[in-house]
Amino acid sequence: METQTLGRSGLRVTPLAFGSWLTFSQGGLKNASKMVDYALERGINLLDTADIYDNGAAESMLGRILTKRRRQHIVIATKVYWNMSDDSNDWGLSRKHIFESIDGSLQRMQTDYVDLYQCHRFDPTVPLDETIRAMGDLIRMGKVLYWGTSCWTGAQLHEACEIADRLNVPRPISEQPPYNMLSRQIEEDVLPTCAELDIGVINWSPLAQGFLSGKYSPGVIPEGSRKAQLGLSGMFLDQVISNDKAYDRLGRIKAVAQQFGIELPVLAVAWCLRRPELTSVILGASKISQIEQNIKALEIEWTAELDAACESACSGDPLQTV
Ligand code: NDP
Repeated sequence: METQTLGRSGLRVTPLAFGSWLTFSQGGLKNASKMVDYALERGINLLDTADIYDNGAAESMLGRILTKRRRQHIVIATKVYWNMSDDSNDWGLSRKHIFESIDGSLQRMQTDYVDLYQCHRFDPTVPLDETIRAMGDLIRMGKVLYWGTSCWTGAQLHEACEIADRLNVPRPISEQPPYNMLSRQIEEDVLPTCAELDIGVINWSPLAQGFLSGKYSPGVIPEGSRKAQLGLSGMFLDQVISNDKAYDRLGRIKAVAQQFGIELPVLAVAWCLRRPELTSVILGASKISQIEQNIKALEIEWTAELDAACESACSGDPLQTV
């Protein structure tokens, strides 16, 4: 698989990444191991996780899976921010939480360093220069090679770069936002900002958590699906599967897929890949066959006709704000 540099850095990543949110616990270690092996064998080099995924269990599984792999050939991205316990210091982007969290992540993943350490949200309760100094110190200590953000606004990214320059600390090299055919908010602010600042973009939930595979229909939750297995009450997937407008849009997207002879999930991933600002699209999967199918997105030729058909299917209704 071709690689390209992530933002203003020398770190080369593949256009598809593989993520471990929910799916590792959903199928257990054996299944996770098979999927990671498959993803790596198909050439994916970027593995995304977070301390909070299954409260550390996803990182631990990844550590066990990767013991048999050459560490140098893998780019490990993990995250810090969400609370790992009820303790008032055990969350956020304070120096204390960042320093303690990285040690937990390294221990769970049985590695000496993380390639990309991402601030999982913006923390308005901590002075931004404290967070950035902490990231710079972890880089100097060799525990982290690069740092990035997730779900930060354009203004927050601008401020982070200004502070990093002033402190002579490396800037964030990437931002990780949601982006898919239902959720396009980043097109207005985050994508132009990342292009301006040369920050790479690694997007999550390209299939809107499975909805864009077409498996859900009104009132029907398929057996074995993420919703059936995990519930996720009140969360994005739960909201989408009971939203008539989401099904209207899905119907239009399905028609485009049929017209152009492209499988629906493949079209949804290819639609993300069409944006030059996106460096890597993080795939989620509960089984190998899904990775196998979704990887075909790399083969889709994104023509002007296909682009126009998707644009007309994916715009013009309030779902833009989901
Ligand atoms: P997707 O939107 O791609 O959803 C993945 C799920 O969709 C799979 O687990 C599977 O669910 C279903 N699916 C995938 N492919 C197919 C297919 N071909 N046919 C049918 N069903 C399919 O991605 P995720 O929501 O999993 O997010 C991907 C990654 O992004 C995460 O693992 C994580 O690393 C990252 N992430 C980051 C966040 C952040 O805040 N920074 C937030 C969320 C995710 P099933 O079969 O169980 O129905």
